[in-house]
Amino acid sequence: MSEPFTPLSEVGEFGLIDRLQAIVGDLSDSDLIMGIGDDAAVYRLPDRETVHVITTDALLEGVHFDRLMTPMEHLGYKAIAVNVSDVVAMNAEPRYATISVGIPAKISVEMIEAFYQGIRRACTKYGLVLVGGDTTAAHTLCLSVTVVGETHMDEVIFRRGARPGDLLCVSGDLGAAYAGLKILLEQRRALTEKGANYRPDLEPFRYVIQRQLLPEARLDVIRDWRVRGIRPRALIDVSDGLASEVHHLCRHSSCGAIVYASAIPVALETREVAEHFAEDVDTYALFGGEDYELLFALPPEQLELLDPTSFSVIGAFLPADQGVQVQTPEGAIIPLEPAGYQHFRSGDGTEGETPAAS
Ligand code: ADP
Ligand code: MG
Repeated sequence: MSEPFTPLSEVGEFGLIDRLQAIVGDLSDSDLIMGIGDDAAVYRLPDRETVHVITTDALLEGVHFDRLMTPMEHLGYKAIAVNVSDVVAMNAEPRYATISVGIPAKISVEMIEAFYQGIRRACTKYGLVLVGGDTTAAHTLCLSVTVVGETHMDEVIFRRGARPGDLLCVSGDLGAAYAGLKILLEQRRALTEKGANYRPDLEPFRYVIQRQLLPEARLDVIRDWRVRGIRPRALIDVSDGLASEVHHLCRHSSCGAIVYASAIPVALETREVAEHFAEDVDTYALFGGEDYELLFALPPEQLELLDPTSFSVIGAFLPADQGVQVQTPEGAIIPLEPAGYQHFRSGDGTEGETPAAS
């Protein structure tokens, strides 16, 4: 009898993680508060009040980024920011980072130094310290960052915890990083077709390109919550796209939800990019990834405590039997599919040309 061979595309990224969790997920101890399944793992320190959160994310050339379009310094900044975002998504402060770099022969020492300047800038910005790593040869540039963060036991916020009646809120604006990616891919094609003398004019798309290449973790948002005494009941960062993250919050919280598409905050430049490509900007906002904004469940009585310029109410949590729905700008209420970025599905960055979310 031949060995079973299930292609990765059959189970997808999340299906694979579920199967791996079935093998190792019961390994635990009395200090572990959250293992596999949230933005970061959480464990208690011996004082029983402090918790550490720990998260790791890889960035791979050809899958997550294209070196032609990505300045090394930006890449260093992004490698730290996307990990800080997962720490922030547990309502914790980042403290320490380590990084493993796999470096191909075509990369120079100066390029790696530029990459580390970006790392340094992000560490300074977010108040964390790079304390170690690993360096190896590789066929393509491979990066893996781990960040440890800290908070108090009663301050951690998980993906679970939302209740029907809570408001579904998001910080910042959505869809811009995807719009930036579309512009960069278009420019790369133009460069290939027109040759090295082609000088792209990226100025009109400055904001969206920055959102793609230099994302920020919203540490400022959770710090502001602390000052204002705000405590969302559930929290996640938007790395794979709004629709996918709403589904995660709902599944972990045993809730349904409705998203009002016309309430999703979208920057003017993102609208202009969608128009430029004759595409629907709601698709960018619902399914585009890598915005690294915070999506959270807010008890309605806390609404008045929030800074009204820093977030949008885009929907509400419902009982689980209502499922996850979206109200289109035309007013129709339809199921919201959990589409978003998933590795191993056909069309992911390992086969096509679209860089992935981490
Ligand atoms: P995020 O998008 O917030 O980084 P992921 O979707 O990558 O989260 O991961 C979801 C959960 O699965 C996290 O708890 C993560 O640590 C865990 N996870 C992902 N890949 C693996 C793996 N290969 N082995 C064990 N746990 C994993
Ligand atoms: Mg996350």
